[in-house]
Amino acid sequence: MSRYKRILLKLSGESLQGKQGYGLDPQMLASYAAQIKAVADSGVQVGIVIGGGNIFRGLSGVGKGFDRVRGDQMGMLATVINSLALQSAIENAGGKACVLTSIPMGPVGAGIYSKFRAVELMNDGYTVIIGGGTGNPFFTTDTASALRGVEIEADVLLKGTRVNGVYTADPEKDPSAVKYDTVTFAEAIEKRLKVMDLTAFTLCMENGLPIFVFDMDTPGNLEKVAAGDDRALAGIG
Ligand code: UDP
Repeated sequence: MSRYKRILLKLSGESLQGKQGYGLDPQMLASYAAQIKAVADSGVQVGIVIGGGNIFRGLSGVGKGFDRVRGDQMGMLATVINSLALQSAIENAGGKACVLTSIPMGPVGAGIYSKFRAVELMNDGYTVIIGGGTGNPFFTTDTASALRGVEIEADVLLKGTRVNGVYTADPEKDPSAVKYDTVTFAEAIEKRLKVMDLTAFTLCMENGLPIFVFDMDTPGNLEKVAAGDDRALAGIG
């Protein structure tokens, strides 16, 4: 029996690029899709928010001819591209998935995101991928995942990354970084832990949505986490 009824999974766009350094790596997509399908098959309802950093980040356009707002709009559209790619990968793996967008996009996806539509689709057995971030510039997909997680009444926000928990510093950059077992929101905010941005932390804290950070690149981890096995994880809550 799974511990969670409904999860919000946050995936970074960057992780979808695999080793190629840009764009979409079909092997990464297939690996993620297989893991997501396994969790959905175990009876857990899955909502997903994906980043867009493998294609475009708003801040990176500043000084290169793109105003911040336009750059952020480009970034939000990049998350829709990633969402459609993940939908295809889940379908190829034999799962049921659909994309709702925070920005109206006509026939792209299954419609505009609303809590009602997302929950309805999850109750019908679909994994629901929410593309387009929050729909607003100056936000991130971390904040979008916190917002959608709270909205859809997810039991937990699972942040899939390349590292297996929350560290005092970025372990890929700082070898002296130490892993936390658990961290309170207040501590995460005070220490400016970079695992999520402050807006995302605050939203989760104020609404009691716990966050778990785990290594999504090790196949099988998502299943363990979704089943409530939080060994080798670090939670914030
Ligand atoms: N973005 C935005 N509003 C949102 C979510 C995302 O403007 O609500 C834009 C922003 O420019 C960001 C880009 O989309 O840089 C990609 O998202 P993010 O950086 O969160 O992706 P990740 O780093 O997780 O791949």
